[in-house]
Amino acid sequence: MKKLQGIYNQVLKRDSNEPEFLQAVKVIFESLEPVAEKYPEFLEDGIFSRIVEPERTIMFRVPWVNDKNEVVVNRGYRVQFNSAIGPYKGGLRFHPSVNLGIIKFLGFEQTFKNSLTGLPMGGGKGGSDFDPKGKSDREVMRFCQSFMFELSKHIGENTDVPAGDIGVGGREIGYLFGMYKKMNNNFTGVLTGKGLPFGGSLARTEATGYGLCYFVEEALKDMAGKSFQGSTVVVSGAGNVAIYATEKAQQLGAKVVAMSDSSGYIYDKNGIDLAAVKKIKEEEHKRIKEYVKDHPDAVYTPGCSGIWSIPCDIALPCATQNELDENAAKTLVKNGCFAVGEGANMPSTPEAIDTFLKNHIIFTPAKASNAGGVAVSGLEMAQNSMRLSWSFEEVDKKLHDIMINIYKNASTTAKEFGYENNLVIGANIAGFMKVARAMKAQGITY
Ligand code: NDP
Repeated sequence: MKKLQGIYNQVLKRDSNEPEFLQAVKVIFESLEPVAEKYPEFLEDGIFSRIVEPERTIMFRVPWVNDKNEVVVNRGYRVQFNSAIGPYKGGLRFHPSVNLGIIKFLGFEQTFKNSLTGLPMGGGKGGSDFDPKGKSDREVMRFCQSFMFELSKHIGENTDVPAGDIGVGGREIGYLFGMYKKMNNNFTGVLTGKGLPFGGSLARTEATGYGLCYFVEEALKDMAGKSFQGSTVVVSGAGNVAIYATEKAQQLGAKVVAMSDSSGYIYDKNGIDLAAVKKIKEEEHKRIKEYVKDHPDAVYTPGCSGIWSIPCDIALPCATQNELDENAAKTLVKNGCFAVGEGANMPSTPEAIDTFLKNHIIFTPAKASNAGGVAVSGLEMAQNSMRLSWSFEEVDKKLHDIMINIYKNASTTAKEFGYENNLVIGANIAGFMKVARAMKAQGITY
């Protein structure tokens, strides 16, 4: 880093206790050096120093009463990062690891991802350190109601439209939406990922995983003349993104041989029986190790990182941030893996990304390849505004087109700046340019 080092140093000083946020800023700034060279007006207008500072950060107390009649206090967050190109948009994460730095890194990344979709959405993210695991439905409901009681003051269909993320699925969105509607006496598309009977979009559940595969398929075809057909795939995670990435990879002719949860991973040489995984994770909310009970050829191994030692052609990390480190990356390369598609947000460490790029692995960065979820959220907002609902095929077709466009945009931009086939740089620059131009056009707002 040269031109942007001073601004990065300031972020380093101000946010030294937010390692994930610093990591995200560093990766973006490294990609944006050529932009800072080519467009000095962005530096003059303070675009880079403004873009790393959220427009607004809201932190709040979330008190609720558990089934034992005890008062529990969690912490809630909403970081409204950037509204240059549209209302803030981004998910809510409920997980004990949630803190301000994690929400900021996610909101920062979201700004560029949303820009890449081509839809008018700014960037935001929120959540809480609440852990839905092991809680009764009523506990989750009371927590969601208390969380929304405060959040509702800060969101709106034209202001900020949250969605789900880790720990926030259809059940939580339903409770959050019910509370918002009750408080505001207003049936409006203030959240996405809603249930189908109350304004949800068909294909939203599948969108991130399907979109990931559409993106990777295009990258494989364009960069190497390859495809999912006949390939062996490893997918980490067994949540929303992982399940629908597995489904689409299988539909495209791949054999997915492994999946995981936060306790361990399963390897099934016959190919994962996805119906069984869906039953365990979506219906029964149990651990993935249950899979081996009915699949005698499958093996369960405790611990998560070992999943990357399974030989595969394509790896799809779909669990969480920094789940794939340098050692794992080297193992994948050694085993002949030729493509890595990020489904989770920032699942690869910077060292792992370097390893992939140095070894000419096709590497698709999260903000481009997992943008399908937020893209269909944008389509849900459009349907809500028009009081219409499109068919599954219609939404899926639009999702497919959006993912291909994102690929083309990232790929062309990389080439234009002299980094052919480097989709990290291509996606970062393409996502940045639209936001930066909008910020510049709108002036230095006070
Ligand atoms: P879910 O909560 O549905 O699933 C997360 C899955 O990952 C769970 O199976 C969880 O296991 C597992 N997991 C968590 N930590 C690890 C780990 N260290 N190793 C292996 N598995 C682990 O979340 P989503 O599928 O929605 O989100 C996954 C990722 O995708 C996140 O990074 C999220 O930000 C990102 N994302 C999600 C989008 C969406 O539309 N849902 C959109 C764009 C990005 P367990 O069951 O044990 O908890």
